[in-house]
Amino acid sequence: MKNILVLGATGSIGTSVLDVVRANPSAFRVAGLAARRAGEKLAALAREFPDADIAAVEEGGAAGSGGISLRGRTYRGADAARTLVLESAADTCVAGISGTAGLSPTFAAAERGMRLLLANKEVLVSAGRLFLAAARGGGAAVLPLDSEHAALWQCLEGRDREAVRKIWITASGGPFRTWTEERMAAATPADAVRHPKWRMGAKISVDSATLANKALEVIEAHMLFGFAPEDIGILVHPQSAVHGMVEFADGSWIAHMGICDMRQPASCMLLYPERRPSALPRLDLSAIGRLDFEAPDTGRFPLLGIGLDACRRGGGYPALFNAANEEAVRLFLEGEIAFPEIAPAVAAALRADASAEPSSLEDVAAVHESARRAVTEWRKNGRQAF
Ligand code: MG
Repeated sequence: MKNILVLGATGSIGTSVLDVVRANPSAFRVAGLAARRAGEKLAALAREFPDADIAAVEEGGAAGSGGISLRGRTYRGADAARTLVLESAADTCVAGISGTAGLSPTFAAAERGMRLLLANKEVLVSAGRLFLAAARGGGAAVLPLDSEHAALWQCLEGRDREAVRKIWITASGGPFRTWTEERMAAATPADAVRHPKWRMGAKISVDSATLANKALEVIEAHMLFGFAPEDIGILVHPQSAVHGMVEFADGSWIAHMGICDMRQPASCMLLYPERRPSALPRLDLSAIGRLDFEAPDTGRFPLLGIGLDACRRGGGYPALFNAANEEAVRLFLEGEIAFPEIAPAVAAALRADASAEPSSLEDVAAVHESARRAVTEWRKNGRQAF
C-alpha cells in the first residue's frame, strides 16, 4: 500500500490521479491533498478521503472557517502545500501544482526522499539541475507524469544510454495546427484553449496552441534523461496515438502508444513496477486508421524555436523562457495582448543575460522576476516585434 500526497488535487492531473486511486483502492491510501483554493471541490475530496491532511494555498473559500479536514490536519496559506509535504509521513508525492507555485512543495518532497511523480514542468525547466541534485541528496525517485516523458521513460527503461541515438517527442500540433498566420492573428483565448486531444488547464492549453509546451517538454526531457538538446526530436502527430519514441544506435525504433488520457500515464507511474488491469478505454488503432507525422513549423509557431534556443543556451535561459511565457500567456488569457504577441513578448525577455546557472531557488525567483519585468517593459515600449 502506497501512502500518497496529491499536490494540485483539484486540477486536471490531480483529478486523473485520484481516479486511478479510486480504481485501485487496495494499492493506495490518500495521506494528503493540496489545492490552490479551499473551494467546494477540495471540500468534497476531504469528505471522500477523511483521513487525508488538507492544504489550501489561498485563504477563504467555500469550505469556510470551520476547516475542511475531517480527521486529518488542515494547513492554510502560501506555504500550506510545502508544510503538508514536510509534516506528512507519506512515501509518494504527486507534484501536480502547475506553475512556479509548485516549485517549493516539490523541492520539499525531493529533499524528503519521497517517490515523486512529477507533472509540474517548471520544476525541471526553471530549476532542473537544482531539483535533480535535491532529489539525489534526499534519495527521491523521480517518475515523470507528463505523457510524453512517461512514454519515453517506458521505452528507455533498462536501456544503455550508448544504445540510444535520439529520443522523439510527439506533439498533437494543438488547435491551430492547420491555421494560417492571418487566422491565428485573430485567435481568442477560447480558440486557444480548445485543445483537439487533451482536456487540460488554460495555461498549458495555450502552450499547446503556441507549441511552447513542446519546447518546455524538450527541456524537461533534456533534464530527466540527460540527452543533449540536438538529440531530442519533435514530430507533430495529429492522431496523438504515439506519445514518445526512442531511436536506437542500430537504427531500430521503439514507440510508446496509448490513449489520450492522463489516467493512463498516471496509472503506469502510480502502480510501478506493477501493471494492473485497467478499465480505461482501449487504444483502437483500426478506428484511428492512420498515423501521420510531420516536422513542426517554427515559422508559424515561433515560440517553439525561441524555447529550443533557450534550452541550447542553458544556464538561466530556460527559467527566463518559462517565466516570460507564463507572464505573456497570462496577458493573452486576460485579453491584454493578441495571440501572435506572445512570442515577441517572450523573445524580448530573452534578450537579458541569463547565462549563469541558478544556484538556489532564490536565484530562480530572481530570474522569474526579471522575466516578468521584461515583459512589462516590452508592453510599455510599444510591443515591438522580433
Ligand atoms: Mg505533455
